[in-house]
This record gives sequence, C-alpha cells and structure tokens, in this order.
Amino acid sequence: MDSTWLVLLSLALGLVVGAGFVAILHVAARRGEQAADVVNSGVPDGVDQIIDALGSAGIVVDPSNNVMKASPGAHSLGLVWNDTLVQPELAELVDTVRRSGESISRDLVIPRGPFGDASIHLHARVARLGSRYILLLAEDHTESVRLDEVRRDFIANISHELKTPIGAVGLLAEALQSAADDAEQVRRFGERLSQESQRLARITQDIIELSRLQSSTSLANPTPLAIDDVVVAAVNQNRVAADARAIELAVGGSSRAHVYGVESMLVTAVDNLISNALQHSPERSRVGIGVKVADGAVEIAITDQGEGIPEAELDRIFERFYRVDQARSRSTGGTGLGLAIVKHAVQNHGGEVRVWSQPGRGSTFTIRLPEASTQLPAASANGAVRASIGDTP
Ligand code: ADP
Repeated sequence: MDSTWLVLLSLALGLVVGAGFVAILHVAARRGEQAADVVNSGVPDGVDQIIDALGSAGIVVDPSNNVMKASPGAHSLGLVWNDTLVQPELAELVDTVRRSGESISRDLVIPRGPFGDASIHLHARVARLGSRYILLLAEDHTESVRLDEVRRDFIANISHELKTPIGAVGLLAEALQSAADDAEQVRRFGERLSQESQRLARITQDIIELSRLQSSTSLANPTPLAIDDVVVAAVNQNRVAADARAIELAVGGSSRAHVYGVESMLVTAVDNLISNALQHSPERSRVGIGVKVADGAVEIAITDQGEGIPEAELDRIFERFYRVDQARSRSTGGTGLGLAIVKHAVQNHGGEVRVWSQPGRGSTFTIRLPEASTQLPAASANGAVRASIGDTP
C-alpha cells in the first residue's frame, strides 16, 4: 500500500469516527432536551399544594387543555372528568387567555350535571401560570344567587299580598261615601272595610314577625321555659275559635320538660299550628296536642282529623306565602306565612318541625326542640339558671 492509499484510508476513518461522534453528541443533546421536557411537564413548585388546599375550584391545564391538577372542589362541582375540562365554556375561557395572554374573569351559568336542568352559578378567573400552563379558579355563587332570588320573590309576594286588601279598602271607602244615605249599604260596606283592615293588620304583623325571626339565626337571650306553660298559653289563645266550631282541644298530660328559648316565639309557633289544625278540621272533630320527651328532644305534636295535605305539597307548605288552596286560605283569613313563622321560630331554637299527613285522614305537625337538661347552651354562662332547672320537679 503506497502513501496515497494510507492518506485516503486515514481520512475515511476520520470521517466515520467524526460522524459517529457527532451522532452521539446529537443523541445526547436530544436526550437532554427530553429530560428537560419531563422536568417542565410537572405543575410548578408550590402550585400543587395550593390547589390541594383550595376550598373552591382550582384547575391547572397544559397547552393541550389536559388537566394537570384539580382541587377536590373542581371535581365535586363536576368541572373535571377524566383529566379534561367538562364544560366547553371553561375550555373557551382557557383558550382565550392562552391566545391573548391577558387574565380574565367571568360569571357563568353552567349545567350542574349531565342530566336534568339544574345549573350552577360560577365566578371564574383564568390566568397564565408560567409560560406553559393556564390556571383556572372558580367560586360557586349558586347559593347567594338563590338567596337573592328568594329575597326578590319575597318582596314581589309582599307587594302582591298587600295590593289586594289595600285596593279593597280604597274601593270600600268610596262605596261608603256614595251610599251615605242607605243605612243597610253603609253597614255592609263598613263590615267589609273592617274585615279588609284586619286582614292588612294580620299580614303586616306576620311579615314583621317573620323578618324578625329571619334577621337572626339564633336567640339573643334564651331563658329556661317549662314547655307545658308554652302549650297551655297557645291552647288558651285558640279556645274561642275551637268552641265556635265545637272542636275539642284535647291536651295530653304534662311533660314537666324544659327548653331554652324565648317564650313568645314558641307560643306563636304552637299557636300557629293549633290555629291551622282548627282551620282545616270539620266541625265537632278533635284536635290533639301532646307533649313527650324522647332521647333528649321535647316533642310537641298537634294532630287534626281534617282534610289532610297531598304528598306533593308537603315540601312546599313551609315556604312563605305558599298555600295548597289559595282561595280557601284567603277566605279563612290565612296569610300564607304561618308555617314559615313556625319553621324559623323552631330553627332559631335549634329544633325542627316535621309533618305527617294523609288526604282524608288528617295531619300531625311535630315540633322537636332540644331538652334543656341535656343541652349545652350558650345560656350555661348563666349557671344559676341551669342549676335551678335541674332542681325543678
Ligand atoms: P295559611 O295562612 O294559609 O294557613 P300557612 O303557612 O299556615 O298559611 O299554611 C300553608 C298551607 O299549608 C295552608 O294554606 C294549607 O293549605 C296547608 N296547611 C297548613 N296546616 C294544615 C293542616 N293542619 N291541615 C291541612 N292543611 C294545612
């Protein structure tokens, strides 16, 4: 082999070794890039823990809108399923932020789930998280929107309920003026005027009572009360109405139980239930009022033999202004607020009201209150009062 061949061979070898070396370097560099990708694909440090600790919904998505991290709140609101954003509205917000780079916040109404027509009201905020991810935070405002609607409905209902008697008072006053010479007409219009003004007085009184009960969810100064006294006071307020229709008010024996509370509120609650029982009972029937103590709860049950309430209405009768039979409630002087007042008065005492009813058989409304001797009330600050209850026979 001459020297020319030797030179060519060493050149070729050099090329092969060099190319191999370059290839190795390239592969190594690519691996390095991939390793860097893997490191970067995780959610940035600290964000993980913050999302875990969020009470509301928090979601981090990658450039393909895959969910990298979601808080328990995001799952429970049904915003994430199988590592994807369920709601197209949220995916659109994320895309908009990715394109513009600007953070945005929006109020959205989205379906509560795949079935039915319930919806949730969300306040969503979306922002970039580093160069790669998008962070979506959402708060559930459904409950406050619902409360606003309830409040608006209440005001609309009040106006509606007041409009009728106020209009009637105006018309009757005019009728009275023009019938001044007819004694019989004057007597008739005068009687109706007095009925409408009593109705106005009842509605305003009930509205004031209900707003007072709703303005606070607990009692300011609860005192120990003998439940038998509460029942006797409420029964006495209904004696005349019961006698007028020959309905027997049968009070079961004494319980000697005590509760912490405000006497006037509890008397109003029991009174409303007894007066409802009377309104819906036939003449010469019986309304029973029984008190018993069971498992630390004092139960006052009012049972009638009236027309009963259809099952479908049972959930609604405690709503403000809800009546099963509008015309009948108005003709008997009902305001539609009686049971709402009972519910709030009892809830403010840490209790509940239950109803059993069957059309044609009658109804039983039961108020359950925590018994004073087993309660751990704020009123235990008043140690002397608590001790005296234990001493009561
Ligand atoms: P109202 O002023 O109309 O009595 P309530 O809030 O006290 O309003 O009661 C709501 C509705 O529930 C009533 O209009 C009536 O239809 C029904 N209801 C309440 N108590 C009874 C009862 N004991 N028997 C049958 N229906 C009742």
